[in-house]
Amino acid sequence: MQPNKRYLFTPGPAPVPPEVLLEMARPIIHHRTPEFSAALDQARERLKPLFGTRSEIILLAASGTGAMEAAVNNLLDPGDAAVFVNGGKFGERWGRLLKAYGMVGHEIRVEWGRAVRPEQIEQALRDHPETRAVFVQASETSTCAVHPVAEIAAITRRRDTLLVADGITSVGVFEQRMDDWGVDALVAGSQKALMLPPGLAMIALSERALERAGKSRAPRFYFDLPRELRLQREEHTTAWTAAVSLVLGLNKALELIHDETLPRVFRRHALMAEATRAAAPALGLKLLAPENPAPGVTGILVPEKVDGSKVVRSMRDRLGVGVQGGQDQMKGRLVRIGHMGYVSPFDMLIAVGALEIALKEQGFHFTMGAGVAAVQEHIARDAAS
Ligand SMILES: *Cc1c(COP(=O)(O)O)cnc(C)c1O
Repeated sequence: MQPNKRYLFTPGPAPVPPEVLLEMARPIIHHRTPEFSAALDQARERLKPLFGTRSEIILLAASGTGAMEAAVNNLLDPGDAAVFVNGGKFGERWGRLLKAYGMVGHEIRVEWGRAVRPEQIEQALRDHPETRAVFVQASETSTCAVHPVAEIAAITRRRDTLLVADGITSVGVFEQRMDDWGVDALVAGSQKALMLPPGLAMIALSERALERAGKSRAPRFYFDLPRELRLQREEHTTAWTAAVSLVLGLNKALELIHDETLPRVFRRHALMAEATRAAAPALGLKLLAPENPAPGVTGILVPEKVDGSKVVRSMRDRLGVGVQGGQDQMKGRLVRIGHMGYVSPFDMLIAVGALEIALKEQGFHFTMGAGVAAVQEHIARDAAS
């Protein structure tokens, strides 16, 4: 089979709507012009409800990791203690960033697919009372699990400890209430739910985080958040050359999101996640994170005797349906189906349909169509409600 149409259900990059592609195809404009400033201001304003904040959003020309790095070297001094939740690849990344800048990272290790328990955060802060910040993923994309950010914030906001949350597969997927919860820094990236190509990162800072950023002594140059914020707020431009086309595309993507309305966007993601999850038991398969599943990506464990890498490869190369496998210890054991951004519940019929074909090819026995029917039932139930 030579598919003429390809589908992208990876947990980033994710599909980009035609309206956004067209916006980005417009002739480039200079980044120090009133036209660009207007788009920048509007995009930054339109992002606020997705973060659940009244704070200013800072845009950075970088992949999501750039904003993670900026959080580390703008909010802490070398030698400062931090607690980080390592429940997957991205949690591990916090530890590596802290190490790179000479901070002392205290790791809370969480089994893949599980959520950190708020008591573990309390305990870590008791064990290390000098901790200046806690780092966690709102949604850990590698394990398709969410961590309880609001409950963690309830702990950190009572102390002089900042909470930094990686919302890269959360912002625009499910409700974030940065201000109400008391999150001090929330990070996002363009290529997941924000319906853009990779290359833009965003970060919002609470008042106390901003104050801390003004005093931090860690080395920094490109990612200088106080400087970046001052320029974006007061000069309506970026410190360095902006990712002009991505900013214009972001503004358009946010227009689409607000036209749909945020509650509907969140409901759609919840429906896609529930429908995709329902396919697993229907096929006799298990989920990696059944108790605390992420609304943006679903991780289905492949059967013992099946090589998950072959399933993923066959889906992508032969069937034209891009999904992602597992990383590290989950290599070959997991299929991750992304449902973020420009994706409809009906797309999950395609994703699960292709998964069934690839599993059958690998010799796994089940009733063909059982997973697809489970997805269909969820969509029908939602349509009737
Ligand atoms: C995609 C992702 C990132 C950022 O990765 P980049 O490759 O730098 O964009 C960070 N955290 C999470 C949870 C992600 O899903």
